[in-house]
Order: sequence, then structure tokens, then C-alpha cells
Amino acid sequence: MTVTALGDEVFQIDTEQSGYAGITAGYLIRGSKPCLVETGTASSSETVISALKEVGIEKDDLATIVVTHVHLDHAGGAGHLTSHFPKAKLIAHEKGARHLIDPSRLMASARRVFGSLLDDVMGELLPTAAERVVSLGDVGKIDLGNGRSLDTYYAPGHASHHIGLVDSSSGDLYVGDAAGVYIQETKTQRPATPPPDFNLEITLNSIELFRSLAPKRLLFSHYGPVSDIDETLDGSIEELRLWVELVQTARSEKLDLDHAITMIKDKTHERYARLFNDPALSHRFEELNSTGANIVGINRWLDKVENSDYSFGDAAH
Ligand SMILES: [Zn+2]
Repeated sequence: MTVTALGDEVFQIDTEQSGYAGITAGYLIRGSKPCLVETGTASSSETVISALKEVGIEKDDLATIVVTHVHLDHAGGAGHLTSHFPKAKLIAHEKGARHLIDPSRLMASARRVFGSLLDDVMGELLPTAAERVVSLGDVGKIDLGNGRSLDTYYAPGHASHHIGLVDSSSGDLYVGDAAGVYIQETKTQRPATPPPDFNLEITLNSIELFRSLAPKRLLFSHYGPVSDIDETLDGSIEELRLWVELVQTARSEKLDLDHAITMIKDKTHERYARLFNDPALSHRFEELNSTGANIVGINRWLDKVENSDYSFGDAAH
């Protein structure tokens, strides 16, 4: 099922990233000024457009498209969608917005990381005209109509331009990737710490900011709604601290990336047993949120704080 009604006129859209169900979501908030949160990849844009049609959103209806950050699984479809929905404004944090206007640098660095996988899986982020792009500062407000708004909060750490969004009516908090990944099937949490921006301290601050906003529900881009706020945010913190510790161990044992991946998979086998016991599910999420990319991202941050230069190599997937 592509569209799931979550109540309060909120609809979860399965973007079917890479053809997989249930790994990357977009959300539509319906009302007099309909807003799409997250676009999914460029390759997902047709899926998202037909899902929006299914909930009654036609070409001229969509008022805003907002992305939590400009990674390709969240914003890759932005150019396709702004061209399909001519009245929609495209909204992102000011540190990320320029990539939506001119994606060339972002695409070049994605190409270095993903190689040929980029075209197969993600597709090309197309530019959106500058006059349609709205840049947010540390806080902002997106009008949803009828007194309802999405209040935006700068929440860096996973990416230096990441934001969280709170729905004034439903109390939903769109967490993007700032609190990691949540796998509904097994209630497993995983960190999302890819290069080049990941920073532990800043990520932890953003998670505490989320807690202080007292949301009623967390809406994960990967994947879906969660209502146990404190337990889940505590889980996000625990995951981050654990993985940082594991990468520190790998560095002290001078492991290369392949051995670091094996070591971390071994040491977390019991923790993620329910996930690993379902090889298809585990494979889907490994493709989205790979152990290697998490290790490389954490390592890069540790290099910065320890002023060291420990190289696992560039393989980030
Ligand atoms: Zn993501």
C-alpha cells in the first residue's frame, strides 16, 4: 500500500525507494494549503505524484514542498515535483537551499560516493528556479492554512542543514534522519551517521531539542510513525553512543573498513537479532543505511575532534 492515512489529514506515502516497500516515506498534510514533507528520490517522483493524486492533490493544488535536508533520498525528487506542481514553493534550511537551485555540486559528490548506483537507485536531482525556493533560518513557519502551521527548527548533526518540523495541530514531529532510522517491523533503531557532516555532540543536541518540543508523535522518514517519544529518543542516543564506541574500537585495533564492518556486525548481532533474522528486511535497510557509511561518517567526525587522520578508505556504501 503506497498511501496510509495517519489521522489529522496526514498521509504517509511509501516512495518505494529502489523498488523496496517501507524504507523511505514522504508525508502529505492535506488542508487548504497542502504540504508535502520529503520528496523521496528523483526515481520515486512518479510514485509520489500518483500517491498525491490518490489523496486528491492535483497539479495546481500543492502549496509547499519542504525537505528536512537535501540528501537524495529526501530531496532528490524536488526538481521533478516543482515542475509537476507549478504553484508549489520549495522549502529547506538556508544552508541546504542553494543545492536545490543548483544541484551540480551535490550531484558530483553523490556520484563520487555512490558511483553507478546513483543512476540506478536515486536518479538526478533537477534544479528548481531560485524564485520558488524559500530558505529557512534557525526557526521558521510554513502556513498549512486555517491557522495550522508547520513550525521548523534547525536540527543539525546528521547533516549540517537538517531541520525538524512540528505540526501545530497534530503535534507530529518530522524528524528526518536526525534521530536515526526506525524499523517498524522489528522496532529496531539504527543510527544514521554518514559522511561528511555527522557530528555526535551536535546530533545529541538536536535530539534533546526534539524532546523539549514535546511532540505527540515522531514521523521518521525511514520509516513511519512512533508514539513512544522518550523511549525512542533515548534509543536514538543509545545507538549513537554505541556506534561511536565501536568505531573507536575499530580505530584502536587499526582495522580496515571491511574488518570494521565485520567486527561491528558481530558485536551487534544480538542487539539486532530480530532484524538479522529477517534477511530480506535486513538487506533492504542495509542498502538504505549501510554499516559502512555509518562507520565512515563517525570515523570522519572522530578524525576532526581528535585531529587525527585514520583512513578507512572512501567506500561509503
Ligand atoms: Zn535518509
